[in-house]
Amino acid sequence: MSWQTVVGLEIHAQMATRSKMFCSCRRETGLDPNHNICPVCTGWPGALPVINEAAVRCAIRAAICLDCTIQRESRFDRKNYFYPDLPKGYQISQFYRPYALGGAISFEREDATADRLPLVRIHMEEDAGKSIHASDGTSRIDLNRCSSPLLEIVTEPLGMSGIEAASCVRSLRHLLRWVGVSDGDMEKGNLRCDVNVSVRPDASAELGTRTELKNLNSFVSIQRSVEVESKRQIEVLEKGGTIRQETRLWDQDLEVTEEMRSKEDSPDYRYFPEPDLPVIVIEQQDIDRERQSLPELPAERYRELVDDLGLDPKEALPILARRENCEFFAALLEAGLSATSASNWFRGEVLRHLNDRSERIDQYPLAAEAIAVVVKAVEEDRISVGKGREILQQALDEQRDPNEILSESGEQISDESALVGWITTVLSENPEAVNKIKSGDSKPMGFLMGQVMKASSGQAHPRLAQDLLQKMIEQD
Ligand code: ADP
Ligand code: MG
Ligand code: ZN
Repeated sequence: MSWQTVVGLEIHAQMATRSKMFCSCRRETGLDPNHNICPVCTGWPGALPVINEAAVRCAIRAAICLDCTIQRESRFDRKNYFYPDLPKGYQISQFYRPYALGGAISFEREDATADRLPLVRIHMEEDAGKSIHASDGTSRIDLNRCSSPLLEIVTEPLGMSGIEAASCVRSLRHLLRWVGVSDGDMEKGNLRCDVNVSVRPDASAELGTRTELKNLNSFVSIQRSVEVESKRQIEVLEKGGTIRQETRLWDQDLEVTEEMRSKEDSPDYRYFPEPDLPVIVIEQQDIDRERQSLPELPAERYRELVDDLGLDPKEALPILARRENCEFFAALLEAGLSATSASNWFRGEVLRHLNDRSERIDQYPLAAEAIAVVVKAVEEDRISVGKGREILQQALDEQRDPNEILSESGEQISDESALVGWITTVLSENPEAVNKIKSGDSKPMGFLMGQVMKASSGQAHPRLAQDLLQKMIEQD
């Protein structure tokens, strides 16, 4: 029998606003514990919340780019529960009247086809604080995170694999970062995901009973927990057992899921409308204004790069990874590079450098114009590709203008007598390599070319030098 795995996601994304959801404390991490709090976010008696307008705007932007239907009127509700990191005794959330319904996340299937995961809703809410459990058995509470603004994005259940579930979250994160709604750092906990998993005998049957896996904090955990949990469910069902609706925990070291609580002992939150906050009214003009402030979305940029500029989709994706990358790439085009060479140098030099250091484009010290000057020198055959790369590296190492290094380094030398001079020296110094090549082993060619480039301090015209080297060995 073949089984289908069905997944539904509940994703929490912290919005990248300056202040918190209902008070004027900064939304900031990395501060000393309990140093970023006030009577409102720590729930002192009598303190009154105020809705952060910037957070509502941010939420509207998210809903627009996820194609949701934004509700003209929505409302906050109290979700009551007791936990040490929630001093108010309730979380302000939207339960009965969320601000956005419907919509979808576009994502890629394992076979590279495009698909959409429909959304049920998005609502705004506030985050709780953090409990820190130390190894000495004590627990501490840091309330800095209390009342940080969150979006909860709830999807419909859809047949998909673990890899595809991770791909949905990756795609959502990409979009939220692109429009500046969230930093989306899973390691920092400002993007968290609950995964609901069920299995059914085939795609047309009724949905199976689901289990819920809480607080997955990496793409690998999302993928693996879906794979492991669906396998567990299939094994239970094939042995004639039944699945109980329950919340399970993912142990990423052991790669197993274990029971946390069943549906029967799931808490009753006694939701009721938040009496201290007004109804939120979002007019069409508010939506239009946010829409106008949105940058061009990744799908449009993708079409430009692939359809208009003729890049391969594989080349386009790393450029599209961040909006700032696209802007840098556009500046390379603006500086006169062709799409192909802008793409080659951007990926080969700029992104490689950044990836090596886990840095982002805004930390890259060279300007697009400066890179373009070097690339043009390569394209006009004034310097070799290798020399061009070297100049960029030197510019990074010495924090200098590549243009300056370029003018110091002199142009590429194609003068035959100079080339012959360097090659003659290299051949006489490496008789063994020469003999190998003559006996049919072409491997040492690369080494000899390297020696020639070194002898010329990188100035020999590589193609001419290569041809000449070949000829001189044959004639030797
Ligand atoms: P709750 O609020 O108790 O978590 P919801 O009905 O709001 O319950 O559903 C939460 C999530 O569970 C949604 O993302 C939904 O897509 C998912 N879900 C519901 N039924 C299934 C199922 N049979 N298989 C997989 N996921 C499911
Ligand atoms: Mg849930
Ligand atoms: Zn506060």
